[in-house]
Amino acid sequence: MTSEDKTAIQNIAVMTSGGDSPGMNAAIRAVVRTALYFGKKAFGIYHGYEGMIDGEISPMQSHDVSDIINRGGTILKTARSKRFLEAAYRKQAYEQLKAHHIDALVIIGGNGSFRGADVFSHEFDIPVVGIPGTIDNDLDGTDYTLGYDTALNNVIDAVDKIRDTASAFDRLFFVEVMGRDAGFIALRSGIATGADAILVPEVHTNYEQLKEYLHTTYRHTKSSAIVLVAEGDDGGGAVAMAKRIREDFPDFNPRVTILGHIQRGGAPTAFDRILGSEMGVAAVKALLQGQSGVMMGKQCREIVPVAFSIADKHTKRLSQALLSMIDVLNG
Ligand code: ATP
Repeated sequence: MTSEDKTAIQNIAVMTSGGDSPGMNAAIRAVVRTALYFGKKAFGIYHGYEGMIDGEISPMQSHDVSDIINRGGTILKTARSKRFLEAAYRKQAYEQLKAHHIDALVIIGGNGSFRGADVFSHEFDIPVVGIPGTIDNDLDGTDYTLGYDTALNNVIDAVDKIRDTASAFDRLFFVEVMGRDAGFIALRSGIATGADAILVPEVHTNYEQLKEYLHTTYRHTKSSAIVLVAEGDDGGGAVAMAKRIREDFPDFNPRVTILGHIQRGGAPTAFDRILGSEMGVAAVKALLQGQSGVMMGKQCREIVPVAFSIADKHTKRLSQALLSMIDVLNG
């Protein structure tokens, strides 16, 4: 036992749950290699809680996580599990873990996955540590979630391309990005792409104001325009907004692009690879120090433990400084 290792943990399992996000593979790799580094056995659970219930659990060696740091998605697959919401299936999952001699868990996922992990760690004597893996960046207690930076860069790449054709045809585009409840992706990618307007769920969309803005700018001071819309915006999304504008200004003929799942695929950025690696190492160390019921959060430059209950509080707010920049920068 090293000074890092204050527990009797021998077998550590890692799994991914909920929406996949680029950087999850870097975190899986780091968990497996850190467990092995400290003389433990590492296991992978496939298909999230579904696989835990069904015993889809396999040992993982160092070579099983070779050549994955550069890949999006998750080699462990992921799933959403209705069964895990029921106590009887959680008990079945626990029995599967015991049958495979798993003594500790690392769960990589979003707030739903941590809600499940919190319930599970209170019901059964198995320590659980989380890694925030979601492109939405909507977890409290961490400045960044794994995959958010890559998703932002994917959006920027796509909107830059849309801008080329918008500019060539003097067109107005409504581009919809992910974010049912949170506008983090829309706001930051909107600033980074120089969007003319950014519509987010956290701020009521004043249609009359948008209409007035487009009326005075589009084709007067600007020949083309891009409006970035989070899918959960209260205006109804990009299709609904474009329809209203088309009705009010038939000659505008706005186009709509819904970026969809392309946002969360592809090679993770340097930032997400490093964050996944940092969080994976920290998660195993936290388990070996006897911690449980916490997510690894990135705060300033440090990785810190954050209680699952705090991570799921939904108090994280959009940056007021960025929001107030929209009107200044869109000219
Ligand atoms: P994303 O943010 O990418 O959607 P997520 O982790 O929030 O990821 P969810 O589908 O909300 O994704 O949650 C993943 C799984 O966590 C659910 O399918 C369910 O199995 C489990 N889970 C969520 N809430 C609970 C709960 N209250 N009790 C037990 N399990 C839960």
